[in-house]
This record gives sequence, C-alpha cells and structure tokens, in this order.
Amino acid sequence: MIQINAAECAAVQYVAMSVAVMLNPDLVRRYDRSGPRYTSYPPATAFHEGFGEAEYRAAAVRGNGQRPPGPLSLYFHIPFCSTVCYYCACNKIVTKNRSRAEPYVAALLQELALQAALFDDERTVEQLHWGGGTPTFLSAVQMRQLMEATRRHFRLRDDDGGEYSIEIDPRTVDEHDMSLLRELGFNRVSFGVQDFDPKVQKAVNRVQSEQQTLAIMAAARRQEFHSISIDLIYGLPFQSVDSFSTTLDKVIAARPDRLAVFNYAHLPQRFKVQRQIDEQALPSPEEKLRILALTIQRLQEAGYVYIGMDHFALPEDKLSLALDNGSLQRNFQGFSSHAQCELVAMGITAIGQIDDCYAQNVRDTGDYYERLKAGKLPVYRGVRLTADDRLRRRVIADLICHGYVDKAALMSGFDDYFAHEVAQLAPMQADGLLRDDDESIRVLPPGRLLIRNICMVFDHYLRDESRPERFSKAI
Ligand code: SF4
Repeated sequence: MIQINAAECAAVQYVAMSVAVMLNPDLVRRYDRSGPRYTSYPPATAFHEGFGEAEYRAAAVRGNGQRPPGPLSLYFHIPFCSTVCYYCACNKIVTKNRSRAEPYVAALLQELALQAALFDDERTVEQLHWGGGTPTFLSAVQMRQLMEATRRHFRLRDDDGGEYSIEIDPRTVDEHDMSLLRELGFNRVSFGVQDFDPKVQKAVNRVQSEQQTLAIMAAARRQEFHSISIDLIYGLPFQSVDSFSTTLDKVIAARPDRLAVFNYAHLPQRFKVQRQIDEQALPSPEEKLRILALTIQRLQEAGYVYIGMDHFALPEDKLSLALDNGSLQRNFQGFSSHAQCELVAMGITAIGQIDDCYAQNVRDTGDYYERLKAGKLPVYRGVRLTADDRLRRRVIADLICHGYVDKAALMSGFDDYFAHEVAQLAPMQADGLLRDDDESIRVLPPGRLLIRNICMVFDHYLRDESRPERFSKAI
C-alpha cells in the first residue's frame, strides 16, 4: 500500500499545451490495482487456440476488401539479446552465439513471403517497426537482407514519409550502423537507457556509459533520423528522487523528441530473471510515486507534452500534434500519429491486427521453423472480435487517445447499453477523474494518469473470474 505524508499529498498539477496531467498521490493510492496496458482490446489474455491460420487468412481477405484498401503496418520481432537485463519482461532469447540469428532470419524471410501473398500489392506500408529483443543483434548483412526482401514483397514508401522505426540498444551500435540503418530506410529510433546512474545500471546488469548513449544519439542526429526516443524505467534498485533527478537532467539536456518512462513491475514469480534483483534495494512505493511526480514535473517544465500511458513528446513532435488534433492512435507499437493501419506482425510471439481479428505467432523458435518449413503461417492463437468487443475497443481507444467519448457518435442508447459501466464511473466522477453526462465522457487532469483504471470499467474480460490477473500496476 502506498503511503505519502500529508505535505506530499498536495496534488501536483502541470499544464502542457492545452492538455493537463495531474498526479494526486491519494487517488493513486486508492486506485492502485493491476490492469492491461490496452495496446489491444481484448487483451492478449483473451486470445485462444481455436483461432489459427485459416481464420487469419480469412481476416486478410476481408481486410483487402475494404475500399479504398487501407495502409499497412509491419512489425518484425527479433528476439535475441547478447546479455540479459534483470528487469526484463520481454520475449527474448539470451545468447552470445550470433549464428543463432541465421536460421531465424531465413525463417523470417519465409514468413515475409507467405504474409505478403495475403495482402493486395497496392496497400502502402505507412509504419514499420523492428522490435525485440535487440534488433541490432543481426549482422549488417542480415539487416540489409531483411529490409531488401521487405521492399520486394511489400510497397514501402520511398519518400521517407512513413514511420519506419527500430529499437536500439546503444551498447550494440556505432556510427557506421546508424548510417546503415538510415540507408535501409529507418527514420525513427528508440534507445533503451533506463537510468544513467552506474549503480542502478550495475544492479540491473545493463552497464552502458552516458558517453556511449550520447554519442549514439548524436550519430542519429547526424544521420537525420526524424525522431529519437529514449526509454527510462523508474522503480529500479537503488533509484531515489535524487538519483533519478540527475538522470532526468542528463536526458533533458540530450533533448530526445520522445520519452517513454515505464514503471518497473517486480514480478519474480512470473519473470525468473527478475529474481536476480535484490528486493531490499528496490525503492519503496512512496519513493516510486515521488520519482513519478518529479518526472512529470521536470519533463513538463522542460516543455514535454504528456501524451498518455508513460509517453512524453516535444510539442512539435508528430505525437503531440496528433494529440492536439485528435488523430492519435494506439496499437501494439504504442502511440502513433498515423491513420489506423492493419498490422502484419512477423517473428516468434508477434501479434498482428487484421480486419476485426488479433493473431499471435508461436512462441518457440523450433515450432516457428517447423511450421514455416511446412509452408504454414506460424499463427497459433488469436481472437475475432464480436460487435461488443469492437464497441468497447472504440470506447477504450477514445479514452486513451482523446480523453473523450462522444456517446451519440458511437451509438444511440449508450447509457442504456453501458448501464453497468456508467454506474461504475460515478465514484470516479466523484473523485474528479472524469465528467460523465448525457453526451460524453471527458477525462479530467487527475484521470489522465489513471486512464487504465477508467478503461478497465469498459473491459468485459476483467469480469471473468476464471482468468488470472496477469497485468502490471496502473502506476
Ligand atoms: S536488451 Fe531489452 S529485450 Fe534484451 S534483455 Fe535487455 S530489456 Fe530485455
């Protein structure tokens, strides 16, 4: 349970552009529960194995039938990392053996060809993302091979106008690699930093010098990447308000276009590697909340806009502009300024979103290779959304991306259909998180940091007691 002393309970409010975010520790304490991050609705915990390759192929046919055919987003999962970070909850394979990437890239190329055959040629790829793991575990030759094959199979934009991004571990690249990535067509990078404090880095087994990170950011700028993003994590061992303040000073001075500041969820029962973390060294919940309050304050004072769900961006960044003009989107890759694309996801564990379906690939590399060798798509589970799912997905997306639900625009009789949910919003309204009236639901500044709790009201799947709670805390 989070406990904050009276002096610190004073609500802290900061206004960024036209949008405010407010951290009220008392409210955070009361709404302190686990919940999905809503990169999809239904969450992946609702996927089932009754959905397989045949259902995925049928979804692709329906998606192609849209007129005009919609744009595509491509995701490639590269699962390898040469060392392990002790806080990690990602799907990764830790190995120093670079040869393990060879069969994987070969299989990925097979999947690329199978997937491309399902989608109309004229559909443009507006978004592309390589995630992991560590995508730069691949050699220069493998990266080139994969991107060239992608260009052969799909219609990539050649005007540098798409959002083509890659996650980078600064310890694994140099200026030459950054130049190669730009040449291959990437125009956005996100760097994992987490914390600049050497003591924290050592405790989580991710030692990367400040000079290394700043040098690679400078290289990205020289290569004219459109956007540089940095990931930080609060709640790691040995972090304190003072230590994280120093990290924030350095990050703000480096001026990335975007920042993601994630809450570390310590779940050693679920993620074995987290058992390497000394629990005694973890900051208390009170200290974590102070670190979060400080982060919001410092970033907004430095001119960053709170986009939502741990993300900040400079006012001129596309995400901030999309937040302002109501075109912000959310999918498995986080927030996006692009129109809703169908997402074709490749590699182990990757999750795609086609038509009214989500589909996930197998988790095991052996299984992945076998299915592809047999000429089969490696989809092993998924879900086709019902009309109710689609409606709830839209409400949740509107809450997260716009902080506003126009009831009449969604359906007639919103309050009758959602009578159960509207009743649950009443205490949230009383707590000042939102305003609910006949026309709309509007998220208020104290509700922005607790948006997951508001969305959970509309999540039908959370009512199913038989599903174990497998989510992180909202803050
Ligand atoms: S580099 Fe990323 S994916 Fe790999 S172990 Fe570290 S946090 Fe996990």
